[in-house]
Amino acid sequence: MAQLRCILHSPETDCSGEDVQPFDEVKWAKVQAAATKQRKLLKLSKYSGICETLAENPSASDEYHNTCYYRFTAIAVKCQQPLVRIANF
Ligand SMILES: [Zn+2]
Repeated sequence: MAQLRCILHSPETDCSGEDVQPFDEVKWAKVQAAATKQRKLLKLSKYSGICETLAENPSASDEYHNTCYYRFTAIAVKCQQPLVRIANF
């Protein structure tokens, strides 16, 4: 059996003690949407490496920690706000 790993992991995120979980379709769609935003907006973000290596579909060994998932998807929401402000200028 392949070793399960958290593919949304950032070294700053403390998720020790959490179990990894498999992606479902909804979670994966959110990760993909977040990665698409981050590719455009955060070229130098700590998650840019994750975004670059993110596959179209999760492989059998690709799972996530809840903490890492929420951090990853929350950043995309946060970095949308400045763009909205600029657009309203
Ligand atoms: Zn993790």
